[in-house]
Amino acid sequence: MLVENYESVLNEVKYSCEKAARNQNEVTLIAVSKTKPVSDIEELYRHGVREFGENKVQELCDKYEKLPKDIKWHMIGHLQRNKVKYLIDKVEMIHSVDSVRLAKTIEEEAAKKQLTVNILIEVNVAEEESKFGLKYEETLNMIKEISDFTHIRIRGLMTIAPFTETEENNRIYFKKLKKLAVDIDSKNIHNVSMDFLSMGMTGDYHTAIEEGATHVRVGTAIFGERNYNL
Ligand SMILES: *Cc1c(COP(=O)(O)O)cnc(C)c1O
Repeated sequence: MLVENYESVLNEVKYSCEKAARNQNEVTLIAVSKTKPVSDIEELYRHGVREFGENKVQELCDKYEKLPKDIKWHMIGHLQRNKVKYLIDKVEMIHSVDSVRLAKTIEEEAAKKQLTVNILIEVNVAEEESKFGLKYEETLNMIKEISDFTHIRIRGLMTIAPFTETEENNRIYFKKLKKLAVDIDSKNIHNVSMDFLSMGMTGDYHTAIEEGATHVRVGTAIFGERNYNL
């Protein structure tokens, strides 16, 4: 079932790429496994899936210990500074950096372990009060500050669009994020590239791909509904 779901999402990714005249290998499908058991991840792993997303440090670290080490873990949830040290040597990329203070902690912990950490800057494009992320207008200045940290590479931007039944509604936010990335890229800031755009979830990944997503984060369409009361 999981493999079928995954394959059907992958097919949709392919279809959206074709529609947008993009190459499918520009888009990484991240299977968001939060709240789901290790056995689910193992099933997809056996099928060849290597990119997984988690939103809690403890859960990511637990799963990291139990699963093969060639899995690429993406941290996509809000990150507290005191937990950075547990995470930093286990992740492929942190998608959710939304303050200079957090970046500074990542810098310090990365320096201790002599790592260079790939990060994305989370932008609250839709300006939803309930969501984390930088304001659109403050993003460039924050990126300039963070670019001074030598153990961090800023690779692009991430956003979580509003929940919607009609994904077309979110197109404006994906367009805005893409535009911001192009603007920032044009400044040629040292240590900063805008190669990656992490946007699109189960409800809106087709539109996100049409608007330039390089990483889509899909949970429900692969693993089914999450039950937070377990
Ligand atoms: C849970 C989560 C997802 C996946 O959401 P689905 O709607 O289940 O696909 C994507 N991104 C982030 C940041 C999440 O927390």
